[in-house]
Amino acid sequence: MADLPGVSAFGELAQGLLDLVFPPRCVGCRARGAIFCAACLAQVQAPPDPICAQCGLPLQAAAMSGAPILAPAVTSARCPECASGRGSVALTGLRMAAFHEGGVRKAIHAFKYAGQRRAARPLGDLLAVAYHRYQREGMVADLIIPLPLHTARERERGYNQATLLARGLAARLRLPLRAGLLVRQRATPPQVGLRWQARRANVAGAFALAGPHAAAQLAGKRILLIDDVATTGSTLDAAAQALLLAGPAAIWGLTVTRPMRRDANS
Ligand SMILES: [Zn+2]
Ligand SMILES: [Zn+2]
Repeated sequence: MADLPGVSAFGELAQGLLDLVFPPRCVGCRARGAIFCAACLAQVQAPPDPICAQCGLPLQAAAMSGAPILAPAVTSARCPECASGRGSVALTGLRMAAFHEGGVRKAIHAFKYAGQRRAARPLGDLLAVAYHRYQREGMVADLIIPLPLHTARERERGYNQATLLARGLAARLRLPLRAGLLVRQRATPPQVGLRWQARRANVAGAFALAGPHAAAQLAGKRILLIDDVATTGSTLDAAAQALLLAGPAAIWGLTVTRPMRRDANS
């Protein structure tokens, strides 16, 4: 995956000039000035603790009632789904910044389907906050890899949303971005509407290491895999299975959002 800082800096400058002339409206509150404004960003709620050590979803449904967020409880508990083996097999753990609802859901939609690349910045802010939050529980990374899109899908969209998010996060955390080490070797039908068994089968073998140089760079490293949304986490898990062949020390998945329920269609 080509990383052209000159081109992206020019793109950002052009976007900045365009925003001065035509200020965007916030997807959350419709105020002019930003695609996802600071006030709406501040309203985004992190999932309440305690969470499942594997999939990162709250352990208690009762905790989802909007109770104040306390300091993360260090937990080794797993939710019934993960305890029964339906969770990830390759990820060290999966974490999210927020539930897939409200303004953040709209921001992701604009980012993915309406060409709103500038949403990468506020959504990347959410990822950075989540990283610092979960770092205290051991989610520590040496490098960042965005979940690759199939080249046909990326050509159609013009960008990989995960790469834009990962690039911003890598800059904030001062971690290396290693976008080219993992490749998507086949396109997969959308996961929407599939149950977890079907999702897992749908993405099996979809990813691969880019080659022996990729394996050499990832051996013994703690990898942070980035995507915009996870539902069951099966796509991130398939990517993690490919990365496992390099012998990394850990593979964490981090997404901006997840639906509250894993059988939800996002
Ligand atoms: Zn707003
Ligand atoms: Zn779980």
